[in-house]
Amino acid sequence: MGANDFRHKAEQTIEWIADYLASVDDYPVRAQTRPGEIAAKLPALPPRTPEPFEAVMRDFRDIIMPGMTHWQHPRFFAYFQGNTSEPSILAEMLISAVGAQCMSWETSPAATELEIRVLEWLRDMVGLPDGFAGSIQDTASTASLCSLIAARERATEGRGNEDGLSGGPTLTAYCSEEAHCSIERAVRLGGIGSQHLRRIPVDEHGAMNVTVLSERVREDIAGGARPAWVVASLGGTSYGAMDLVAPIAEVAREVGAWVHVDAAWAGSALILPELRHLAHGLELADSVVLNPHKWLFTNLHCSALFVRRADEYVRAFAIQPEYLKTRHGDAVVNFRDWGIQLGRRFRALKLWFVIRMFGVDELQRRIRQHIAWAERLAGAMQATPGFQVVTEPSLSLFTFRYVPDVGWPDPEVDAFNERLLMRINDAGRAYLSHTRVRGRYVIRFVVGQTNTTWEDVEIGWQEIRRCATEETARPSASGGR
Ligand code: PLP
Repeated sequence: MGANDFRHKAEQTIEWIADYLASVDDYPVRAQTRPGEIAAKLPALPPRTPEPFEAVMRDFRDIIMPGMTHWQHPRFFAYFQGNTSEPSILAEMLISAVGAQCMSWETSPAATELEIRVLEWLRDMVGLPDGFAGSIQDTASTASLCSLIAARERATEGRGNEDGLSGGPTLTAYCSEEAHCSIERAVRLGGIGSQHLRRIPVDEHGAMNVTVLSERVREDIAGGARPAWVVASLGGTSYGAMDLVAPIAEVAREVGAWVHVDAAWAGSALILPELRHLAHGLELADSVVLNPHKWLFTNLHCSALFVRRADEYVRAFAIQPEYLKTRHGDAVVNFRDWGIQLGRRFRALKLWFVIRMFGVDELQRRIRQHIAWAERLAGAMQATPGFQVVTEPSLSLFTFRYVPDVGWPDPEVDAFNERLLMRINDAGRAYLSHTRVRGRYVIRFVVGQTNTTWEDVEIGWQEIRRCATEETARPSASGGR
């Protein structure tokens, strides 16, 4: 493909992207396809000879797009958003074009130095102290695994990497019952084993019971184990549960355990000065993860992992075969030693574009609005007969359910809400997801897509009411009673 040909095709691609972004809310939010439907349209064998761009684009439009769920739809209220924005997309195009592999300072000095600077910005924006150093990981799951590996190496004084874990003391890890499943996965993959993960109960607000944590830590030590990793969750996935970081960190630090804070979603909201109280004690953490790819309008993958003692952290990962040695050696930062992967994309560029082209004030304004709208909608729901707000808004997330008749037993209400959610998502005008709170099936509502407006939230609310009315009117709605 010559330069002119490329330019022409790139222009067509940009046209498509601009049209898509302008009309994304015309699509059903959740893909309306059945399993296997897309695969059936894809040839089993690759082409032997080049196919024209137009043919590939046509199939992209006609086969692939109908099978996509539209995460950039302003009425995406499910899970946590996986956001993008125009500045981030522009940067992604440049990243792809430059195609740099940013493993070492030398392989892309600007990428390394920009990553350092942009993470200093982000660190200051969320109120972490100066000493914290950041790196961009692909996901919070990877970041938490990296944190666990560093914790393991602290607990074994570096012997885990050398000798393996057999023969050493049993290592233990701690998190609340509301922690994300990536924490348990890290414990499994990092060699601690899920039977050594202590899931500490939460209080009525969803915060870890620190007295129980302290007891479990003491019991484990008395039993010969070595507490290695203590995780505080700021913004649990289910309903946004918030642990109190300071007392958790104090318990952990007394026994030398690594303190990790999983703020994958909620961390972005810490750019609001009025929410900094949520982060009380964050400065005591050894590592903190937050995902700009969730709520800071930056494309997947962009997960920021901050560590308090970079030297200790890097020791757990550093490895230097001859072929990777470079002229400046340890005098520069080589991000290949800051995690699992060797090859690294130039992710800092998109975060830089986002922070510069939005500006901190605008980022704050959007997140503030999301939180205000979630509160407003939860208030409206609470005032509407039949609707129950089960967990109050935690930032921009709350959970609810619809109880068609107060006489219904819980299992029937659960089944009704399951059907209600399916009806909403099948209609395609909004997308929500569910969880269970104290055993009860509830629907989650998260406001947070880059371009969501209050009108979108209102349309979502209309859909919920419409579907609740329709589902109630269904002949077998009462579960056959
Ligand atoms: N931690 C929390 C609290 C989350 O909500 C999530 C995902 O939603 C994760 C971790 C995992 O994030 P990632 O998809 O970046 O691995």
